[in-house]
Amino acid sequence: MNDNKKILISGPCSAETEKQLIDTAVQLKNTGLVDYLRAGIWKPRTNPGGYEGAGVKGLSWLLNAKKETGLKTATEVATGKHVEDSLNFEVDLLWIGARTSVNPFSVQHVADALKGTNAVVYIKNPVNPDIKLWIGALERIQKAGITNVGLIHRGFSFYGNTEFRNAPLWQIPIEMKRLFPEIPMICDPSHITGDRSRIFEISQKSLDLDYDGLIIESHISPDDAWTDKAQQITPQQLKVGYENLVLKSKSTDILDFQLQLDELRQQINFHDDELLSLIRSRMNIAEKIGELKKNNQVGMKFF
Ligand code: PEP
Ligand code: MN
Repeated sequence: MNDNKKILISGPCSAETEKQLIDTAVQLKNTGLVDYLRAGIWKPRTNPGGYEGAGVKGLSWLLNAKKETGLKTATEVATGKHVEDSLNFEVDLLWIGARTSVNPFSVQHVADALKGTNAVVYIKNPVNPDIKLWIGALERIQKAGITNVGLIHRGFSFYGNTEFRNAPLWQIPIEMKRLFPEIPMICDPSHITGDRSRIFEISQKSLDLDYDGLIIESHISPDDAWTDKAQQITPQQLKVGYENLVLKSKSTDILDFQLQLDELRQQINFHDDELLSLIRSRMNIAEKIGELKKNNQVGMKFF
C-alpha cells in the first residue's frame, strides 16, 4: 500500500515485559510503516484471573520504547487516573476501549480528566451494536474540548455469532462516517476477526470502504502472548500483509452494493445461528424422550 495519509497503529495487545515491548517496537520501527506503537497497560478482562496489565510501570516501558525508536505511543484509558498517568508518561494517543465506551459514566470520567489537555483521543465502538452510545461517547469527549478525535471500528459482540470474534456490522461504522465525515475512522481487524489469518482480509475491506487507517496487534512472539495470542502477528508479517493491501479507486455504487450484500449476509448468518440452536434444542428434547421411554420400558408403537 502506498498512501501516506493512512494511519497505522501497531504493537502488542498488552505490555508484558520491558524487553517484549522494546523488542517489538524496534522491529515495528524497522518496517518503516508504523505511526504509533500501541500497548495495553490496563487490560479489561472479560473473566477474572487473566493478565490485567503491567499498570504504571508499563507506562515507563512505553516511554523507553518511544525514546529508543522515536515511535509515538498509544494506550487504552478507562478512568480519569489512567488519563493522568498516561499523559505524565507522554503517551501520544489515548483510546477508549469497547468495554468503556459502552458506559456513559466511565466515558464522562475519562472526559473530565481530559479537560484542558490537548490529547489525541480515539473512541472504539461500544461492545454492543448501539450507534447512539458510540455517538454519545464521541460527544462527551468533544464537549471536554478535545478536538483531535478519531473512531475505531472493532466489531460488536453478537450472541451466537460464529464467523468472527466480533461481528463487523459494517453498516454501523459507515453510518458514523456519514454522520461525522470529518472524523477519522480506523479499523481494528485484530479484534474483529480474533484470528491472525483473516486480519488482512478485513483490513482490505475497510480500505475499500475508505477508512483512514488501521490498528493491528503485533507481538515479537505471538504464540507466547499473554493476551489475545490467536490474533497477533509478528512485525514482519505486518510488513508483508500491509504492503500487499491495495487502495482501490472507489465508486459509490460499488460501496452501496457491498454494504447491502453484507447486511443481507449478516441477516442470513443470524438466522442460520438461530436455526442451528433450535435444531440442537429439538434434538436434546428428542433424546430426553428416548431416555424416558427406555427407562419406562415403553415400546415406540404405543407413543
Ligand atoms: C485492545 O485493544 O487490546 C482491547 C482490549 O480492545 P477492545 O476494547 O476493542 O476489546
Ligand atoms: Mn487485544
